[in-house]
Amino acid sequence: MRYHFQGFAFLACLLAIGVAAHADSLLTDLTLVDVETGTLTEGQSVLIREGIVAGIGTDMTPTDGSDVIEGADGYLVPGLWDSHVHIFSGATEPDTALPRYLLHGVAGIGDMGAPWPIEAQQELQARIEAGEIVGSSLVLSGAWVDGSPGSWPGMFLADTPDKARAVVDRIASEGWAAVKSYSMPDEPTCLALADAANAEGLALVGHIPERVALCTAIDAGTDGMEHFGRVTMACATAGVAMIADLRDTMAAGADLPSIFEIMAGQDRIILDTWDEALCAEILARIAVAGMHVSPTLVVADFYTGNWPAPDAPRMRMIPAEVREARGRPDFRLEAMTDEERALAEDSIALYRLTFLKAHRAGVPIRTSSDASFANRYLFHGFSLLDELDLYVEIGLTLREALCTATVAPPRFFDLRDHDGTIAPGRRADLALLDANPLESLATLRRPRAVIAGGIIPDRATLDALEATLLSEGE
Ligand SMILES: [Zn+2]
Repeated sequence: MRYHFQGFAFLACLLAIGVAAHADSLLTDLTLVDVETGTLTEGQSVLIREGIVAGIGTDMTPTDGSDVIEGADGYLVPGLWDSHVHIFSGATEPDTALPRYLLHGVAGIGDMGAPWPIEAQQELQARIEAGEIVGSSLVLSGAWVDGSPGSWPGMFLADTPDKARAVVDRIASEGWAAVKSYSMPDEPTCLALADAANAEGLALVGHIPERVALCTAIDAGTDGMEHFGRVTMACATAGVAMIADLRDTMAAGADLPSIFEIMAGQDRIILDTWDEALCAEILARIAVAGMHVSPTLVVADFYTGNWPAPDAPRMRMIPAEVREARGRPDFRLEAMTDEERALAEDSIALYRLTFLKAHRAGVPIRTSSDASFANRYLFHGFSLLDELDLYVEIGLTLREALCTATVAPPRFFDLRDHDGTIAPGRRADLALLDANPLESLATLRRPRAVIAGGIIPDRATLDALEATLLSEGE
């Protein structure tokens, strides 16, 4: 299989913008939204030079040859980030993913693992950085390390501490942004991964392996945790015993069906033994350690039947073969009894309660959707906004939710030119909105314009792009 970015329709559509990459632009008559403080500053102009915010003020004058774009009282916010996606799971998936992120004002994405070789991922990343392709900044954090034989094709494999160290050496030399642990490494291997990643100065993110307790992973120096189930599990008094049970069963050489049976029973035990006081203790521990959590709560929509209609725009905007696969009956859902369905709903409610407590306890949260062709009903761009809406539904304020998507991700990734603020020296990855997002996040779904490294597709261009994407799916 050849992995490459095609993007013909996307590029043709963007050529129609008529704005050269990195031309100077002056955006006038804007209200700047400071997502961290909730402060609105009216009547501002923003000068963008070579893709960077060069100045902000009330009396900015355009430089020679710069474009002046009337903000007309629009609201300017930092671009959004989705910290957990897989844009390289299909051979042409970036062609689909990048335009959809652009439509939603997504400035950056953290890729969390896929079969594309690192060289091909880096090539796309460099072309975006150079302004050759209009797209979200890419953080390549998908160097996933699993136990043999590996849960997905193309993973790094490590079953011993020595292997873990060798794998981290390779990950560092290949230029990945992080080491991602997956579900199957045992505890000694997991600890060696953490040590080696730390020695290389690489962040350790990922799944907490099934046989490792959450607190062990925190103490080992895990920087970021993907998904939320293990937090809820750690809040159950039976949590540690459940992990020991799984570890002993696997050590005794149990077959996969017996292992899956144990894992399938865990939700019931968590519901029965979830404990408020233990939860407060665990959440305080995560907060003190500063371990970030990428919750991917929107994944639960699949189990609750919160699916888009077959003719919804998000379904029409994916390639026919992906849409066809998504329309097929799913054996996991078909096999579920009413009792299991009720259990899934109770578990989701407990996740959400624990999530709200985590936020209130100061656990750093980065918005993440797990969007990928490989994940049914999760959609590049769309699912990020669904995830944000979910945070608000659960109890975060609109400002707090926005912070998880604008401020937390670039700071976690330690990116010099992005930090979730609109300030001179920062990359001009912004979204111009019709309304104040601190009053309703709905305005994020249809930006008036998107500023992607200095290139500024306005609403008419975004509409043309959307129409092209819809017609491609027909
Ligand atoms: Zn994922």
